[in-house]
Amino acid sequence: MSLIANIIRPEVLDLAAYHVPDSVGFVKLDAMENPYTLSADLQQALATRLAKVALNRYPVPSYSGLKTAIKQQLGVPQDYDLVLGNGSDELISMVSMACAKAGAKVLAPLPGFVMYAMSARLAGMQFVGVPLNADLTLDLAAMLAAIAEHRPAITYLAYPNNPTGTLYEVADIEAILRAVGDTGVVILDEAYQPFSPVSFMSRLGEFDNLLVMRTVSKLGLAGIRLGYMTGSQALLEQFEKVRPPYNINVLTEAAAEFMLEQVAVLDAQAAQLCAQRGVLTEALARLPGVTVFPSAANFLLIRVPQAEQVFAKLVKQKILVKNVGKMHVLLENCLRITVSTPEENSLFLDAFSASL
Ligand code: PMP
Repeated sequence: MSLIANIIRPEVLDLAAYHVPDSVGFVKLDAMENPYTLSADLQQALATRLAKVALNRYPVPSYSGLKTAIKQQLGVPQDYDLVLGNGSDELISMVSMACAKAGAKVLAPLPGFVMYAMSARLAGMQFVGVPLNADLTLDLAAMLAAIAEHRPAITYLAYPNNPTGTLYEVADIEAILRAVGDTGVVILDEAYQPFSPVSFMSRLGEFDNLLVMRTVSKLGLAGIRLGYMTGSQALLEQFEKVRPPYNINVLTEAAAEFMLEQVAVLDAQAAQLCAQRGVLTEALARLPGVTVFPSAANFLLIRVPQAEQVFAKLVKQKILVKNVGKMHVLLENCLRITVSTPEENSLFLDAFSASL
């Protein structure tokens, strides 16, 4: 054991590895995946495309074809460059690595996406979490006070937020961007943008410290691992320096280019999931004792008495949701449920009602 103590940094010793439960054979409603698989025709066309990929060659370092496809199909202004990540998780690590000066801090509302804190600590930065209000809306006064006190190098706002599904007020985000000013960057993490009516992508020109980060994961391509981030060229140039060379592999690149040609299919699925979100919200809200929080994402956060027992009963019936009750005091007795197909949503609703 002394070898471990001798070589591993204390921040790493203190961390728990990102835990992903075994889900084989489960109705999987825990990870905000798109439940729809590719049609047989698309599978065939994709196979033909991937068969032509030169596996013996490194990717073309500029990724210019992929970047153009992302900009054209996913609503990024043409005059902005992109930094690509192996999932937005890698973008978060890259930003941490670039900004981890001695004493630099990272700030985000809590409960929020766990990788913000984890990545900050791994990079040796202090993480400052600012609790949301009890109704899970943003506590703007607390955010502004924390920004004034800590002058964070990085402020994350997931828009909409995970695990709450909440959309913060546009005016609150503007106030945070102004308060941070030129002492830090504000990263609007729009991972759930395919299900949300709003985005800050069109506001990039107004704020030098604004970065917009997105992923193709929730749109239906979680398996290929691809995230992208945009903002001022001066900032992107610095993050580009810490991007691992060839971090997007040729299969991801080719699969993403192919699927972006078919983006209408994915958009239609997102629209179906938004409709199902409404159906599921209404059905859950009718159940006695269940609170459903408003969501602009492809999942619902609900509060239910005895959530631990409900979760365990669902697991027995091979339905996996996310038990977030221990993540933060504000989430006591809360479960997070990914919106799925009408069939899987019904299976969940039946098992859930029976478990109450
Ligand atoms: N940001 C938020 C808010 C998320 O919820 C997630 C996934 N849970 C991510 C980023 C990471 O997405 P990925 O690494 O799959 O791109």
